[in-house]
Amino acid sequence: MAPGQASPNPRRLLARVRDVMAGAGSAQHRLDETVAVIAEGTAAEVCSVYVMRPGEVLELFATHGLRASAVHLTRLRVGEGLVGEIAAHARPLALADAQGHPSFVFRPETGEEIYHSLMGVPILRGGRVIGVLVVQNRTRRQYLEEEVEALQTVAMVLAELVAGGELVSRDELRPVDGIALLPLRLEGVYVNSGIGIGRAVLHQPRFDIHHLVAEDPELEHRRLSQAFADMHGALDDMLQSSEIARGGEHHDILESYRMIAEDAGLMARIDEAITGGLTAEAAVQKVHNDIRARMSQITDPYLRERIHDLDDLANRLLQHLFGAEGTAAGDDRLDDMILVARSMGPAQLLDYDHSRLRGLVLEEGSATSHVAIVAKAFDIPVVVHAREVLDRVEPGDPIIVDGDNAQVFIRPGEDIRQAFAAGKKARDLRQAAYASLRELPAVTVDGQTVGININAGLLIDVAHLKDSGAAGIGLYRTEIPFMVRADFPDVAAQQRLYTKVLRRADGKPVVFRTLDVGGDKLLPYWDNSEEENPIMGWRAIRVSLDHPAVLRHQLRAMIRAAAGGELRVMFPMLAEVAEFDAARALLEMELDRERERGGRLPGLLEVGAMLEVPALAFQLPALLERVDFLSIGSNDLLQFLFASDRNNVRLAERYDSLSPLFLGFLRSVLEQCRRASVPVSLCGDMASRPLEAMALVGMGLRDISVPPSAVGPLKAMIRSLDSAPLRDCMSRLYGQQRHSVREHLRAFAKDHGVMI
Ligand code: PEP
Ligand code: MG
Repeated sequence: MAPGQASPNPRRLLARVRDVMAGAGSAQHRLDETVAVIAEGTAAEVCSVYVMRPGEVLELFATHGLRASAVHLTRLRVGEGLVGEIAAHARPLALADAQGHPSFVFRPETGEEIYHSLMGVPILRGGRVIGVLVVQNRTRRQYLEEEVEALQTVAMVLAELVAGGELVSRDELRPVDGIALLPLRLEGVYVNSGIGIGRAVLHQPRFDIHHLVAEDPELEHRRLSQAFADMHGALDDMLQSSEIARGGEHHDILESYRMIAEDAGLMARIDEAITGGLTAEAAVQKVHNDIRARMSQITDPYLRERIHDLDDLANRLLQHLFGAEGTAAGDDRLDDMILVARSMGPAQLLDYDHSRLRGLVLEEGSATSHVAIVAKAFDIPVVVHAREVLDRVEPGDPIIVDGDNAQVFIRPGEDIRQAFAAGKKARDLRQAAYASLRELPAVTVDGQTVGININAGLLIDVAHLKDSGAAGIGLYRTEIPFMVRADFPDVAAQQRLYTKVLRRADGKPVVFRTLDVGGDKLLPYWDNSEEENPIMGWRAIRVSLDHPAVLRHQLRAMIRAAAGGELRVMFPMLAEVAEFDAARALLEMELDRERERGGRLPGLLEVGAMLEVPALAFQLPALLERVDFLSIGSNDLLQFLFASDRNNVRLAERYDSLSPLFLGFLRSVLEQCRRASVPVSLCGDMASRPLEAMALVGMGLRDISVPPSAVGPLKAMIRSLDSAPLRDCMSRLYGQQRHSVREHLRAFAKDHGVMI
């Protein structure tokens, strides 16, 4: 622009770009028109758009001013030339003497030698570079900062056209860490086996912003400051909540988070983008994109972590702007969803239509977290602790979840896809083979019968009783139905549910566990005040005994549902015998009440205790005199024994359930139950893996409860096992001072042909 020439109006330019983009014709045609409009609106002689292609190459896709014959011919690697430099650093460049810049490379086919100044900006999407927008002038002109800003804003709108899927296929435009578009393999931690082939749905999706260009900038400024105020208010509430106000790390983290939120620079930058013509939403996204693209170049892990704060912040702001909770649950139009999330509660997973879910990938979480347990009930492959998966996947990306090997393939190539499709087919055949074992008993080669029951928590699980050939339901988690409701179910509603469960179980035994809420299982309508150690906090039987009416209602509903039939009930998280006594007393009260009102009582009543807290193991002699059965909850027991949070990803593989210590501990429990003639089962995760289950059978356990999908493989394992030599082998392992005897047990299985 020559001195004295009127500055182009950025808002008018933006509106024109929007209109051309929304106009008729092919995407290429609209892009061609757009570059002409931008050239005119920025008083430049040249405007060009380069689009990222596979292999980190930027291809000239449209130009106004350079030779048309160079379109789709000129290609620059990321880092090559000025265009490559802009892409590599995700940063604008504004140069009066472009040819004097050390990165300049001359491409004769473009005819650009006559243009001396250049201003270019990255085209960003989701914080990643998907192209570069460049304008050039003949004269050696200095571009102003506002002009760079205006071009960035135009690039933000242009990103919609580039990423729209018409110019290049969406599959191609899946950049990783700002640049590559290549297939990717990530490793995580095992949760559930199976192969899931489908497309990515992000649990907290990026918001779909359709209105990019502001009609009324004043309104947008007001909307932004209101959203900021709302967000600060919500953060202040969080900070003042009693637990956090006492200080500690939570407080520090939130404080630093608030500092980012209150950073005046951030608000000013978003305001500036609105002044440039964007709506408040689009402005938040633009600034988020810009900052994210720069931050992704940082290698310092602490600072990289801040990217998540920024993402979260941008999401919160957008939530306040949209006035809605961001969830992808409504996004389940896909028939082959692979859900990808940082972490997730079990109730959130239940929001999705599970018949369309093909897999779950979490950045955090662990095998025993409750969301994983729900995912297992759905029998979908799950991989947790898949690092940075959210940074590497775009909505709609093809994904393969290989649950068996705890790996995830993002945008797999055709060869990998075919290999997994074949693997899945083989697996389906194997499942069919397991189905053929359905009617056969779970008996070892040397004649030991093992009762295999299933864990359930949803009515759909009960259906698996039949198709898996399990003996019964060894653990019915009653809290899951509570978690998906908007309010507390009354006695009648609970009774209806338990009646259905018993009816569908069709005479097979069902063990109901009373409410195990708290910890990570929160009821939306219940007092969810933050606790510093929720897993060791006010949960399960502790909640039930503090609110006896809740437990009594639940027991009443169970008694009525089992009228004239069989009722088996157990209490979770007992730490002392007195708690069992108190819970049992409430049960007796309810039985008396029912008797008094002339109701029919269950014909058989069995009352059990869950062994999940190590302290209870020291009271077994007294406990075993009182209970009809014992059920070992190895998930909680293991975490409390090793003081190792079952949801902490860093600890997910730190301690092994096949440690001689844990096996020795379990053996002593089994021994005491045997002496007291009290039936004992194990319903934690451990029993669902063939190798671990083999060890449990080897130490004398004869009853387990596992997710339905584990029944087939376990039956195959048991039917191929000779338990006597295993017992001898294990007797030498208990006393060992090692981290794990996993390898010894694996070697045993291999040498003895056990199907693990
Ligand atoms: C356990 O702790 O092993 C158990 C079965 O209970 P939950 O996983 O529901 O806590
Ligand atoms: Mg438990």
